[in-house]
Amino acid sequence: MAASAAALCKVRFMARVVQKFGGTSVADVERIRKAAEKTKAEVDAGNEVAVVVSAMAGVTNQLVEYVGAMSPMHDAREYDVVVSSGEQVTTGLMALALQEMGIQARSWLGWQMPIRTDDSHSRARIKSIDSSELDRRLTAGEVAVMPGFQGITEKNRVTTLGRGGSDTSAVALAAALNADRCDIYTDVDGVYTCDPRIVVKAQKLDRITYEEMLEMASQGAKVLQTRSVEMAMNHGVRLYVRSTFTDGDGTLVCDEDEIVEDQVVSGIAYSRDEAKITLVQVPDRPGVAAAIFGPLADENVNVDMIVQSTAADGALTDITFTVAKIDFDRAAKLLGDLQQEIGYEAVIADSSVVKVSVIGVGMRSHAGVAQLMFKTLSEKGINVQVISTSEIKVSVLIAEEYAELALRALHTAYGLDAD
Ligand code: ASP
Ligand code: MG
Repeated sequence: MAASAAALCKVRFMARVVQKFGGTSVADVERIRKAAEKTKAEVDAGNEVAVVVSAMAGVTNQLVEYVGAMSPMHDAREYDVVVSSGEQVTTGLMALALQEMGIQARSWLGWQMPIRTDDSHSRARIKSIDSSELDRRLTAGEVAVMPGFQGITEKNRVTTLGRGGSDTSAVALAAALNADRCDIYTDVDGVYTCDPRIVVKAQKLDRITYEEMLEMASQGAKVLQTRSVEMAMNHGVRLYVRSTFTDGDGTLVCDEDEIVEDQVVSGIAYSRDEAKITLVQVPDRPGVAAAIFGPLADENVNVDMIVQSTAADGALTDITFTVAKIDFDRAAKLLGDLQQEIGYEAVIADSSVVKVSVIGVGMRSHAGVAQLMFKTLSEKGINVQVISTSEIKVSVLIAEEYAELALRALHTAYGLDAD
């Protein structure tokens, strides 16, 4: 009787956890040891643990440079072979660190699991994870260590998941293993209301909804890869962002109904990764937007914000939009080629812009959020160039030089400052 009660207790309190350590957490042998202590703590608590690691900080950048130096117009399949290698090193080292602590651990490379992806090399998407063997071993008390970022196609070619993709590997694994939690260990102790390097009064959030986190990540907050948040939301994975270097609960990314606090705006994000393009004197006729944005989409250039005014004389108008800075040259060339066809007069390009976004699910039920943003910016003499909104976000494009001023002023205006 007593024995079975104890067994029941064990079943009840044991959790299955996926831990992910980012590049700064595995930057050298000493840090890997430190990270391994976080794993040991979970094992000691009786939990089943799978670990996902990034490459050592800076290594992936170095590998990308090697590829560029060898072959500027490189074959993406070989790019993946090279850049996926940083994670192999840390995976083996992490398994060794755990073994040194007396923990039964082994490594599983992406192809050994395997983690199947599509064949969009350098930005592949995970299609399936065969976790049956891992499942069995976790249950038997072994710790599994896996490289983030890696996958393999149906044709057995190595793929990578796009920069920052280890977050997505971890969430996908957590979903496949039906884990109770996915802990993303990084060098900050959670998700903040705004970048604390710019806004000193930024506060750590205890909780944030998946939707808000998704907006934060896609609007420029670099703490999680956007796709990982999307996947966590779709699979209901409880995601914690926490620090490898300090103790603490971090920030829980979860469903809206788990959040009691009722802030209208939860956070402010910014992105310097966009550039603005204005087509001057575009004929105002049906089909012109399609003639501009169709070819851009065909070339995989993502357009973010768009404004078009009506022509006063009903004939010509300007169209302004933003694209990612890395797509900027391609977009400009493409539009140049299309000048005749579209019939615009000139292109004006400006990359000294920053996009600032206020984000919060509370916007659904509160009016005046955008108004407060415009008022605050105007009081600081900051001109708003482009606006875009979603149900839970208002974004504005402003001149880059005002980024800091705008972030601080908005942070205060929405009542987010720490006392
Ligand atoms: N090492 C890869 C990168 O730097 C993946 C990751 O760290 O998430 O992008
Ligand atoms: Mg990262």
